Amino acid sequence: MPSALPGLRPQLPSPLTPVEDDRFGRHGVRLLLKRDDLIHPDLPGNKWRKLEPNLRAAAGRPLLTFGGAYSNHLRATAAAGRLLGFPTVGVVRGDELAGRPLNPSLAQCAADGMHLRFVSRTDYRRRTDPDFVAGLLPGTPFPEAYVVPEGGSNAAAARGCTALGRELHGAADVVAVACGTGGTLAGLAAGLAPEQRALGVPVLAGGFLGAEVRALQHSAFGGPAGDWALADGFHFGGYARTPPELVDFAADFEGRHGMPVERVYVAKMLYALVALVGDGAFPRGTRLVAVVTGRP
Ligand SMILES: *Cc1c(COP(=O)(O)O)cnc(C)c1O
Repeated sequence: MPSALPGLRPQLPSPLTPVEDDRFGRHGVRLLLKRDDLIHPDLPGNKWRKLEPNLRAAAGRPLLTFGGAYSNHLRATAAAGRLLGFPTVGVVRGDELAGRPLNPSLAQCAADGMHLRFVSRTDYRRRTDPDFVAGLLPGTPFPEAYVVPEGGSNAAAARGCTALGRELHGAADVVAVACGTGGTLAGLAAGLAPEQRALGVPVLAGGFLGAEVRALQHSAFGGPAGDWALADGFHFGGYARTPPELVDFAADFEGRHGMPVERVYVAKMLYALVALVGDGAFPRGTRLVAVVTGRP
């Protein structure tokens, strides 16, 4: 299906690049990088795949969405608003940020025209409660806005991510992706062929992700879809925690392969793959695709 969003010009399908890496090669595993980070300069990776169907559904209406102070999703939404000419509202976690200078991520959102609305952490926890959202809208400049949940993950987004799976038919045995809300994994697994499987690497601690993925698949596809599993134990303490071991790993990967490695998500997924392959988790001959969901 051609993009209904002519202002965006995505590079699709995204490139699939084999890389030589002895940590995989010595176990007979072939590593390929699915370069979703190259889809669009301002809406990279899964953010494009999840936003595109929502932008279609919004049909030019203002868009309101949610995120933390460093949210890639907020930045991508603000950029889409600028490129396509529709208003955006970002509901940001943490009312203590309201009186302070904006961090670079939020400053970029504001420069792209996003109206920022700061809410307390207590209120932010109610972000999926319809009553809370209904009460929030009248206090924004766009009470008629189309609401997209945190991280952009809803049924439309999961359906959008099935294209990622379809682009990999015939080219992969296992496809690994880093998970925040799980929307990308939910759609990826549904889009793969029956003999292929998806492996999600949660970057948040807490163990709630499996239930989230099942709920998203239920709303998007009516029930479970595709073969997927989670590789727990690689969150390094939680969201945005990047201890020196992880930072060193990412810098080393960049040096070996000349590809910028995003630290919050992509580095943890690649680290998990090196560890799992080292433990013999994949049979020889496995074609292992790592989805590069974004860039630094
Ligand atoms: C947002 C994001 C993710 C997480 O995607 P979910 O669909 O929320 O699981 C993964 N990688 C990068 C680079 C991201 O920006």
